[in-house]
Amino acid sequence: MSLIVQKFGGTSVADVEKIRAAARKAIRAQQQGHRVVMVVSAMGKNTDVLLKLASDVSPNPPAREMDMLVSTGEQVSVALVAMAIDALGSKAVSLTGGQIGMKTDDSFSKARIQSISTERIERLLDEGNIVVAAGFQGIDDDLNITTLGRGGSDTTAVALASVLGADACEIYTDVDGVYTTDPRLLPEARRVDVISYDEMLELASLGSGVMHNRSIEFAKKFNVPIHVRSSFSDMQGTMIVTETESQTASVCGAAMTPNEARVTVLGVPDVPGKSLQIFSAIAAQKIAVDMVVQDIGLQGRADISFTVREEDLQTTLKTLKEVLPEVGAHAVTYDDQVSKVSVVGGNMAKQTNVASTMFRALADANVNIQMITTSEIKISTLVPRSQADAALRAVHHAFTLHEKPEDAKSWDQIRSERGNRADVDALISRLQADVLEALTLTGISLTKSQARVTLHGVPDKPGIAADIFETIGEAGVFVDMIVQGYDGEDGSTSISFTIHQDAIERSLEVTHQVCKKHGMRDFQSGTDISKITVSGIGLRSHTQVGTILFKQLADLGINIEMIGTSELQVNAVVATEKVEAATERLKKAFAASLESAAG
Ligand code: ASP
Ligand code: MG
Repeated sequence: MSLIVQKFGGTSVADVEKIRAAARKAIRAQQQGHRVVMVVSAMGKNTDVLLKLASDVSPNPPAREMDMLVSTGEQVSVALVAMAIDALGSKAVSLTGGQIGMKTDDSFSKARIQSISTERIERLLDEGNIVVAAGFQGIDDDLNITTLGRGGSDTTAVALASVLGADACEIYTDVDGVYTTDPRLLPEARRVDVISYDEMLELASLGSGVMHNRSIEFAKKFNVPIHVRSSFSDMQGTMIVTETESQTASVCGAAMTPNEARVTVLGVPDVPGKSLQIFSAIAAQKIAVDMVVQDIGLQGRADISFTVREEDLQTTLKTLKEVLPEVGAHAVTYDDQVSKVSVVGGNMAKQTNVASTMFRALADANVNIQMITTSEIKISTLVPRSQADAALRAVHHAFTLHEKPEDAKSWDQIRSERGNRADVDALISRLQADVLEALTLTGISLTKSQARVTLHGVPDKPGIAADIFETIGEAGVFVDMIVQGYDGEDGSTSISFTIHQDAIERSLEVTHQVCKKHGMRDFQSGTDISKITVSGIGLRSHTQVGTILFKQLADLGINIEMIGTSELQVNAVVATEKVEAATERLKKAFAASLESAAG
């Protein structure tokens, strides 16, 4: 008998009528022959109300008591939902996190799931009940109540779907699916039928608030299809699965993150270990660093730029001030009026003109790009906040995201084509893993024979990046990583990109022309470089990956030339010389997290 997990978010159980509607949905699924597990969030804005109460009582409430408090929101809603089901004539039992054996670690307010026991749920289902489980909460080894972080009910739902071997995990919410961009920002945004886990992970980390990031990591790891759909209609929503909707469309979504800040550390001595010093100091403040661009040093000094959320800017600046003498850098500059505009697409890496299309769209909208970072399935640009909406619109339009790709497939088509190719063995071994939500790395790999080109003194005005990458593309050169950083000296910027070594001559010719045309200072190139890639699931929610990578490379005296991070990979471009040794070291350092199956 098939089993489905249905998750109802706060807005879907906000009042009595909505609670009844949710109960009816579950009853109907049961009558259609499914075993049904519901996962329910706190009613409406109840979690916020509880948080407010806590802050009224104490300026600094103990973390344990916070979780004790906020977990009550879900306890209220599961009981009410179970009563509603009972009143409608069906059988239901509500269970807290503790009662479903949702074991977590003891990091209150951001606990990670370790294991879930399924016996009790199975037994209740066998007896004909709808099981109504409280989202967001668990218990640690000492039976303390823990919570998984804001929005954590999604993760509870996907985790339950994983361990119960559910056929699907339905996420009922106040939107009817996943859109190509936030429809509140851009009315022409299109609802997609299918999106891949990887794409969704990137979009979720860009703040497309539809789902909790960690729930997608979980779904990807255990291959659980997620169906995001409206709780107020029966329309098919968006399926989040392994496959992409289109085989050819380079971009599936665009996102704008409004409140970013750029920070640049000027004149960092270009010797190994400096990035480590800077970023570990910031990580110690629990601040997530986002776009990171390290420029190739001139005169033995490099500029390191990165973005943080605007609300973290002051702490970041304070922290940097403290470590600056130790790092030996010259100064720190920042800009708190910037936003990030990104595009995401699972097919991006196979195509050549994605970056230049994006840069051209921004140039045509007269938007100046301040920073660029790329990863295998994402390109991010930092733009002035005053132009952020216009920038998003231009990019969305340039990739015709408002139109369905011609080769788009529906979930039914994909499902019938894929047959039953879920790798059952791999799944079982993952389920037996000691800690369900532990960091999972899928590999550490090396791309050799790379070369890098850096343009210095790139005028800080619209259209230059577009020109560079259009020209390079026309010359038939395939560009891998692109970074644009802030050049403190004169407010100009510098742009670096990597290519295969064989393409260096052609690239330099083109670069020479572009440099002349725009009156740039000079350009440089480096051959004999390699890219080290650490791949895994949810690398950014496991922030230690970057730090460990920096540390291992620093210990070997390896200087990092370029860095690129995403949800799926952390890439470091370094000199080829010691790269084999570095890979070996990294395999050791990450041994516990590397999947044995992947070797
Ligand atoms: N009630 C929790 C929150 O508001 C968990 C959730 O809704 O997913 O964050
Ligand atoms: Mg929620």
